[in-house]
Amino acid sequence: MYEMTRRDLIISSAAAAAVLGLNGRVAFLGTAHAQKAMEQGFHRYKVGDIEVTALYDGVWEKTHDPGFIKNATLDQTKAALAAAGLPTEFVPIPFTPSAVKTGGKIVLIDTGTGSGQTGGPKAGTFMKHLAAVGIAADAVAVIIISHFHPDHISGLMTKAPENKRVFPNAEILVPAAEYKFWMEAVIEGLPEGRRPLARRIQEMFPLMKDKVHLFEGDKELVPGVRPIFAPGHSPGHTAFHVSSGKDQLIMLVDTTLIPALFVRNPGWHVANDQDAAMAEATRRKLLDRVVADKVTVTGYHFPFPAVGTISKDGSGYAFRPA
Ligand SMILES: [Zn+2]
Repeated sequence: MYEMTRRDLIISSAAAAAVLGLNGRVAFLGTAHAQKAMEQGFHRYKVGDIEVTALYDGVWEKTHDPGFIKNATLDQTKAALAAAGLPTEFVPIPFTPSAVKTGGKIVLIDTGTGSGQTGGPKAGTFMKHLAAVGIAADAVAVIIISHFHPDHISGLMTKAPENKRVFPNAEILVPAAEYKFWMEAVIEGLPEGRRPLARRIQEMFPLMKDKVHLFEGDKELVPGVRPIFAPGHSPGHTAFHVSSGKDQLIMLVDTTLIPALFVRNPGWHVANDQDAAMAEATRRKLLDRVVADKVTVTGYHFPFPAVGTISKDGSGYAFRPA
């Protein structure tokens, strides 16, 4: 995973296990199956009659920063990465938008980092992988946005000043609470770190006004896809329930980021959770639901192909890749 070879992964996992005295908590993510999905950059699976394709948009190899997790130390963070067999020199944050084929339409759930607009030099592979699965940009009928953080919306439009729509025919469905928060925000009243994003949102969404539709509640957005209001990470952050026949999938999106850190430790507060206490409450509630209902999940920042199941594990939870 993360462009490591399988051999590196096995060695690093074994070394981590030895150092930490672990006994079976090491998650081997580098299965042949995951490796193949990673190489091709996409992974297709079915939820009843609905076809879901996970599309790899690369990874942000985030430099360690003691402020990244508000209530965990750097040593704790590195130990948690090592315990999951991940590199410890940086925090690997992958991006995985999904394409959903339902009701004869192609629907995207989020749009990725926008070909180099955000996420660092190893991000921005979404459009390449979308083309690889045979989806042309003008064939996308609907885009459902989970929230307005840059790694989810930057793919909608090329960079300023060009500001060209990437998916010219798509209707864009956005959570009403998220739209209102950002569009009505007084830039100077926001923490400095959020101002560039708010400016960009207030610049780009009016340019797509004829295509943007707000949603709230849990009414079906496209056949088989319903929103689950999951606030905290951002004011209108939304997860999704996908169902067809007796099959279901919950798209956790950013309810929890990297499983090795925040599924394992649901009480850890990542710096970009806007309301950390609310985000934690939402996270625990949704994780408890997927455990109780034994539902398959996908997470936007889970290791590619980002699909699997969650179980209770001691004081936290564990993610098991499918
Ligand atoms: Zn995100």
